[in-house]
Formats: sequence, structure tokens, C-alpha cells
Amino acid sequence: MWFGVILLCVSVFWNDRVRRLSPYTPGEQPKNGASVIKLNTNENPYPPSPSVIEAVTRAAASLRLYPDPSAMPLREALAEKFSLSVENVFCSNGSDEVLAFCFGAFFPEKPDGGRPVLFPDITYSFYPVYCGLWNTPFCEIPAGDDFSINFNDYNIPNGGVIFPNPNAPTSIAQTKEAVLKAAGFQMERRRVLVVDEAYVEFCGETVAPYIKEYENLLVVQTFSKAASLAGLRVGYALGNARLIQALERARDSFNSYPVDALACAAAAAAVRDWDYSRKMNRRIIASREKTISALRAMGWKVLPSSANFIFASPPAVQKGDVPDAAGVFQKLREKGFLTRYFPKERVKKFLRISIGSEEEMDLFLKCCMEPL
Ligand code: PMP
Repeated sequence: MWFGVILLCVSVFWNDRVRRLSPYTPGEQPKNGASVIKLNTNENPYPPSPSVIEAVTRAAASLRLYPDPSAMPLREALAEKFSLSVENVFCSNGSDEVLAFCFGAFFPEKPDGGRPVLFPDITYSFYPVYCGLWNTPFCEIPAGDDFSINFNDYNIPNGGVIFPNPNAPTSIAQTKEAVLKAAGFQMERRRVLVVDEAYVEFCGETVAPYIKEYENLLVVQTFSKAASLAGLRVGYALGNARLIQALERARDSFNSYPVDALACAAAAAAVRDWDYSRKMNRRIIASREKTISALRAMGWKVLPSSANFIFASPPAVQKGDVPDAAGVFQKLREKGFLTRYFPKERVKKFLRISIGSEEEMDLFLKCCMEPL
């Protein structure tokens, strides 16, 4: 009862906008000292390039000063990597923030904005949250029974389209041709298509080179996964200069310096040593394939993955002994393995399992051999 009273006291100070929000809940970050194997937030198990640490140390000498507002040194590094101009690059505080700006800059506002933004029903659960923040109407397009996405379903009147490729949490990738077909549909409707490529480095096909052809195509990527820099908080968008200007307008109405000086220097160093990340990510891909084969041999159903995580349904669920994967999630947690369970009807039989280091995955597989 006291809890209810306290809640009521707090909420009298909230405005309607905050009251309406349904915030995103990130995966658990264990407290210092807890000895768990973290397979729940799709972090990279390997450290970032040593050149990143050197760049941070160098940049620390200038912390007295504000950073470059548009993170120009990083934009230059990214423009070179993708053979683009800096006008085609926007950087911000994690790709979550880039995505938040995309919803604010390109998608309509209720009530008169009319057409809803479209995304799959099984996808990154932050998208409906951003719609709540910006008061954006949305429509979730059902993915197939096998969680496949058919872009013909998206060729309807809309206020914009967004999806991750590879998708999360399913880990399934779309071909470049399919994504470009969706970009074409959207171009005819004069609507923006945002492709969230957070996991593209783990076997997906980027459509970044096509932003020159499709002026409505915006590609969002992150340093959190492929570059082992989740703690740094840097993400970026690649697109036509007019789209980038819209993101800059949104940013400059919110925070002039979303990428701090250390983050800017560190991310630029990571770009310049991308071969290092590629090498680490090849190890993750190899562990992923080994994990998939081993789990399937134990009776798990595992979807084909193009990401640094897998989406897998435990044998007890497959056999019909239990209706969902919640119990297995809990048992794995008790045994020291954090995974992610989404209590949503269509995916409740699955766990999302990030690919850890070789040693971590060996321990995980050993644990899965015991009754769960
Ligand atoms: N997109 C997808 C599909 C994700 O899963 C995540 C990570 N939760 C992000 C974007 C955001 O990543 P970050 O903010 O760390 O760049």
C-alpha cells in the first residue's frame, strides 16, 4: 500500500507526456563483483582495438574544451571508410539516440500526421517506445510463422518504414536485394526507409553504398557490437545530405555535443583499425556456428543467425513439456548464465543468447547438456 502511495506522490509532478511513456527496459547489467557469464545484451566478448585505448589517453589531454559539435574527426574517418562525403554522415550518443532522432525527424506526428510508421511485429522493442516519445502512429506488420519479412506487405500507404537488418531478436537477415526493393517502394511514396544495421558486421549485407542511389534511404550503424565499444556510446547514420541535415536539426534542438571528446577519438581510432574488429568478429561467427550445431544436436530449435546472437527454443519447449522458455531462462540464470527472454506471445518459446568468447560458449554448452 505504501508503495502505491509513494508512486502517487511522485506521479503528481509528472506531466502528461511522461505519464504516457512506456519506457524500454534494457537487459540486466550485473552489479560489480557478480560472477556471471553475460549472454544477454549482445556485447562483443573481446576487447576493442589497442589503438582505441591510445586514442582515449591522447584525447584526455583536451578534456577542458568542448568537443567538436558534429564529431567531425569521426565523421571524416567514417566518410573515408564508406567512400562518402562528411555531409552523408551523422554521429550521436549510441545508435539508440540516432534512432530516436530518426523517429523525431522523419516519421509523422499524431493526430494529423495520419499515416503510421511501419515495422515488423517481431523486432527491436525500442521502436514502439520511440513512437510513444514522439507521439508517432505506428503499425506492426506481422512477420511470417518462420519470422521472415515479406517487403510486399510494406508496400502500403505509410508514414515511413524502419526495421533492423539482421532483425533483432530473431537474428534473421534480409538480402540486399530485398532491402533495396523496400527502398524503391518507399521512394515511389516519397517516404523514408531506415535500415538499422546494428548487427550487419556478423554476416549481414549492408545497403550503405546505395544511399547515393536512394535519397530516402538512411542506414544506421553502431560501434557497440562490431567494434566492442558498447560502453562508449557511439552510433551513426549514413544517408543523403538532406536526411543528415534533418538529424542535425533534431540534435541541435536537444544536445549540441552528443558525442564527447573521448568517444569521438576512440571511435575514429576503431574505424582506422577496422581489420582488428573484422578479425575478432570472425571468431564470434565461428563460435556462433559451433553453438548452433551443438544446440541443435541437443534438441534445441535455433533460427539461422546472421548476428552476434542466436534465437533459440529449448528442448523442453520443443517437446511440449513447458509452454514457454521462462523457466529455462531462470534456470540458466541460477547457473550463472544471463540470457534474454521476451514475454511476448509470438516469441515466448525462445531465448535470445548473445555469442560470448570461445570459453564462455563451451561453458554454456556444457550447462545446456544438464537438465534445465
Ligand atoms: N538497434 C538494435 C536492433 C539493437 O539491438 C540495439 C542494441 N540494443 C541498438 C540498435 C542500439 O545500440 P546502441 O545504442 O548501443 O548503438
